[in-house]
Amino acid sequence: MIKLLINSSEPVEMSLTSFGGKPVQNSDGKFQWPTCGCCMLPMQFQAKILVNNELYQIFMCQNDPGMCDDWDANSDGNAVVVTKPIELEYAPAPSEGVTLREVEHSAKVVVVEGNDYEEARNEWAERNAVSLREVLGQVYGEPSWIQGDETPTCNECNNPMRFVAQLEQGADWKTEMNFGGGGVAYLFHCGCIGSAKFLWQC
Ligand SMILES: [Zn+2]
Ligand SMILES: [Zn+2]
Repeated sequence: MIKLLINSSEPVEMSLTSFGGKPVQNSDGKFQWPTCGCCMLPMQFQAKILVNNELYQIFMCQNDPGMCDDWDANSDGNAVVVTKPIELEYAPAPSEGVTLREVEHSAKVVVVEGNDYEEARNEWAERNAVSLREVLGQVYGEPSWIQGDETPTCNECNNPMRFVAQLEQGADWKTEMNFGGGGVAYLFHCGCIGSAKFLWQC
């Protein structure tokens, strides 16, 4: 089974997977908009991915694209904020930096047969007669690496982290995420303290 993430025109909901738009926070005031450790400016919100009742909110530095190692799971050029949806509200964007994307849309999970992501997404697009770009990635399953296996290690327990999702750049080239041009991103988490990491390859 492969769980594909498919572009959807349904309205965006705070507690569900979506791309672009604004990140969410619980009303407990704990959320802090992530700042790039390299240029020290606020990062850009990319997407929130709901897996196992946790929202993985992905941020990447786009203040000077290519300069802050935003592809690296272990740099301070990207961040994943793990939020358990309780009482959600939108998080206000900081006044400086490149923080939001010019797009907002939801996504649905479609379960298909097979065990090869690349095959599954090609087949799905063909069967539905839509662009391959309508497939936004996958959740659970196995990562389909473009380069070699770069499964990150948890900083807390030193174990390899668990794969959560894989993301394509997006449905529209004008508003797509910047994974180096035709790149793919990978999201991982570790259950020990519930931390997450993000990286991309191209
Ligand atoms: Zn930066
Ligand atoms: Zn761990």
